[in-house]
Amino acid sequence: MNFEPSRRGFLAASLALPASQIKAAPAPQAQKGAPKLEYATLGKTGLKVTRVSFGCMITSDPSVIERAADTGIIHFDTARVYGGGNNERMVGAALKSRRKNLVISSKTISQTKEAALRDLETSLSELQTDHLDIWYLHSKRAPEDIKDELMEAQRIAKQQGKIRFAGISNHAGHKELLPAIVKAKHFDVVLTSYNFTMGKTIDAELKLVHDAGIGIVGMKVMAGGGRVMPFYPTTEETRSTLKKPGAVLASLKWTLRNPYIDTVIPSMVDMDQLDENLTAMSNRWHASDEKLLAECLDQITPSYCRMCGKCEGTCPNGLPVSDMLRFAMYAEGYGQFSLGREHFLQLPEQVRAVRCGDCESCAVKCPNGVRVSDRVARAQELFA
Ligand code: SF4
Ligand code: SF4
Repeated sequence: MNFEPSRRGFLAASLALPASQIKAAPAPQAQKGAPKLEYATLGKTGLKVTRVSFGCMITSDPSVIERAADTGIIHFDTARVYGGGNNERMVGAALKSRRKNLVISSKTISQTKEAALRDLETSLSELQTDHLDIWYLHSKRAPEDIKDELMEAQRIAKQQGKIRFAGISNHAGHKELLPAIVKAKHFDVVLTSYNFTMGKTIDAELKLVHDAGIGIVGMKVMAGGGRVMPFYPTTEETRSTLKKPGAVLASLKWTLRNPYIDTVIPSMVDMDQLDENLTAMSNRWHASDEKLLAECLDQITPSYCRMCGKCEGTCPNGLPVSDMLRFAMYAEGYGQFSLGREHFLQLPEQVRAVRCGDCESCAVKCPNGVRVSDRVARAQELFA
């Protein structure tokens, strides 16, 4: 794979978005000084969304969600597991009176048809709606995770009118999973991790998905949630780089330059973040953005897992390395300790019992420069 974890690896990566691909239009209820919104259609679904949508995972203030909807954001994303099950309830209450014009998605991590359909009923009830626009099979990492019975659950839900479109999400394993998703000829929307640390490594797979008419939603677009928390507790230099004005905006703009990404779902916890995210649609890419992201990339390289999947299966103790690094990121990048722990506790008991400190040396080699054993040990320290 042609990946260079250095500045050039991403500076050359992002593709300019053809003008025909996006449409600028006035926001509903547009007012003087209101942000200029851009729109895209999610694959063949016909769902029109703003290119910056709203990831509700770590939002606790419903007024931010309400204002986002009033400003013109159309798509709101949540999941059954977010907020210990409470996020859907908050999102539902915030959007209930606006539901008709919105695109709401949720997700299930259940592994059987029956459990997934039970999750769906709970999601509908908590979100106070009779249907989801997109229902994702969440956090898949390999082709074998695309189970017939889970797709069957989505078919049943569609027939019952409880979902409009079938989705699938992945954090890692893009190279194998995305082609398998296309091959399944079942999914309408893919939600995938995508940010500047990944450079152009998955552009070919994204094109495959896009060309199949599947809508693509980008997540993890800020490479770890740099503004929510001062990223990982490394050096003062790292913290100050990631908190530089414009760093978050630059990372958002980078993702939006890729023509295969229809929309992104960054987290937003307050009005300032909402306002900043909205400007990403009209704030054009500058040379200074490249420089800033290059600095960020240099700083986060030892800590941030790009979820490339190259280390899958190389820990002799069976640790799912990229998953554990992601759980630590939830705690230290997003400030969501309980979310990280919740995921960690779903790992098999024998996996949770492993301690990196018991290894003489770490067998996992990360080609992207992540200090794997340090970060996995941190996850164990936090959650075990
Ligand atoms: S630890 Fe490194 S090799 Fe493993 S998934 Fe993350 S970036 Fe890829
Ligand atoms: S140090 Fe941790 S990640 Fe590395 S081989 Fe040992 S258990 Fe696996």
